[in-house]
This record gives sequence, C-alpha cells and structure tokens, in this order.
Amino acid sequence: MRTLALDIGATKVAIALLDESHQILERLEVPSNTGAVIWPSLRTAIRGFEVDLIGVASAGPIDRENGTISPVNIPQWRDFPISEKLRRLFPGRGVALLGDCTAVALAENRLGAGVGVSNMLGVVVSTGIGGGLVIDGQAFHGETGNAALFGHHSIAFDSGVRCDCGRIGCLETFARGPKMVEYARRLGWNAGEDFKALAQSARDGDLIALDAIDKGTLALAVGITNVLNILDLHTVVIGGGVSFAGQIYWEPFLRHFKEERNHAGFLDEVNVYPAKLQADAGLVGASLFAQDLSR
Ligand SMILES: [Zn+2]
Repeated sequence: MRTLALDIGATKVAIALLDESHQILERLEVPSNTGAVIWPSLRTAIRGFEVDLIGVASAGPIDRENGTISPVNIPQWRDFPISEKLRRLFPGRGVALLGDCTAVALAENRLGAGVGVSNMLGVVVSTGIGGGLVIDGQAFHGETGNAALFGHHSIAFDSGVRCDCGRIGCLETFARGPKMVEYARRLGWNAGEDFKALAQSARDGDLIALDAIDKGTLALAVGITNVLNILDLHTVVIGGGVSFAGQIYWEPFLRHFKEERNHAGFLDEVNVYPAKLQADAGLVGASLFAQDLSR
C-alpha cells in the first residue's frame, strides 16, 4: 500500500510517496510562493503516481468538512478545494486532510519523541508558532481542523501589541523567531537578520540577544502552560527551526516553564521533549492520518 503525502507550507509543497510503515520512498517539492501557478505545477508533479491513499497536511486555516484550505501565507489559495482537485486526479481515492501542526503532533506521537503516551501537545516554533493535539491516541482536529493553533491565543490582552491577525497580545507577537529578532534590534542589537544570528550572539554572551531569547521563551512557557492547564496534558513535544538552536533556547525555556507550571498543582509531572522527526514530520503525519481514516 502506497500513500501520497503533501505538506503544504508557505514556501513549498513537500511531496512524498510512503510505504505502509510510513517510510519515505520518494520525495520532491514544488514552490508555493510563486504566484498563481501552484496547482498546475503540483498536478504535473504528482499525476503519474500510483497510490492507494492520499494524506494532506496544510498550513491553516483549513476546512476539513469542505476539503478546502486557506493558508495565511499563500494568498492566492483562499478556500482552495484541494480535496476535490486531488480526488479528480486520483479517482476512487479518499483524501485525508488535516492541519500541518496536527500532522506533526501525530507523527511525533506514533513514531517520534512522544511514543507511548495517549495525550500530548505538539508545538512548532519557527517564523510562527503552531500547535497540534493528540487525544486518546488520535489526531484531534476541532470542528474545522484548526484545533490548537495556539500561536493566536492572547497572553497579554492589555499590552497594546497588535498581532497580524488583529488581536492584541497573541503568543506569536512575543515568541516567534522574527519577533525575538525585532525586539533585539529595537534595543540596538545589529549582528544579523534572523534568529540563527540572534542565537549565535546569545551564545557569544551578548546581553541584548540573551534578553530577547529570555523574553521569547518566557512567552512560550506561559502559552504552553495555558494549554496544559486547560487540557490537563502532561506531554509536550517541541520542534521547529527556533527550537533547533539548542541549549541557548532550551535552557531559558525550561527554567521559565518550570516556574509557570508550578502554579498549576496538577502539572508537576510534565515531560517536555525535543521533536525527533524534524522536516519530515508533516509528511509522515499526513501518511499516518490517511491510514487511520482508511481503517
Ligand atoms: Zn494573532
């Protein structure tokens, strides 16, 4: 049994053919930041495949019931009917659509850092903040497929800091990579443009860079604790480009997280793990979910 998996993100659509144990047999990609021509090039790339199942992990928001996607960073795809397009291309095949961070959480739960637990939160920290839930061993989607996109829950409602989404004080406005960089630059740090450079400055002892990462990790610790508080979850797996900076990021995060969760009482036994599957997690999660739905 072969599964075609797509992972639709802001800069590319990652495409893979996987076997029934979710090993990647073949992979390719199509850019998704090239204007209005994504579907024709995607169709051309995948039409020759012989597949039994199709799984699609997409950046949100998505609409699982209607099989449409409207990824924030792909403006030409609004209510794009991805499921119908794929069904036409592969007649007789179902299309399993889920959020990309839900896919990551599912993959980490079944094959990565969260193996063996029934309930967990998966977190992706990069240019944005995403989340996905596994509840009772299954992907938890919410009503429309956008559950746990907690980057846009507010942690500072009276801060006056407006998020791109329109709300005040979203977690993303403090904790995503570019915001930590922006914060540091406002205070006079100018040793680079991105989080990688910021992390290097912090390793070199730059006080502004250390302060920026401290503030970003505090925000993430508050945000994650909020989710754990609400759902009584005791396992968190964190991945994404920012988290790959290593100790310079993890040490302050874990320090703040310990402080935050101490107030909750029932969150004394929480395990936080770095993600294991890295860039393939979305594809593997889409494949796992396609197989779940086919059973
Ligand atoms: Zn927001």
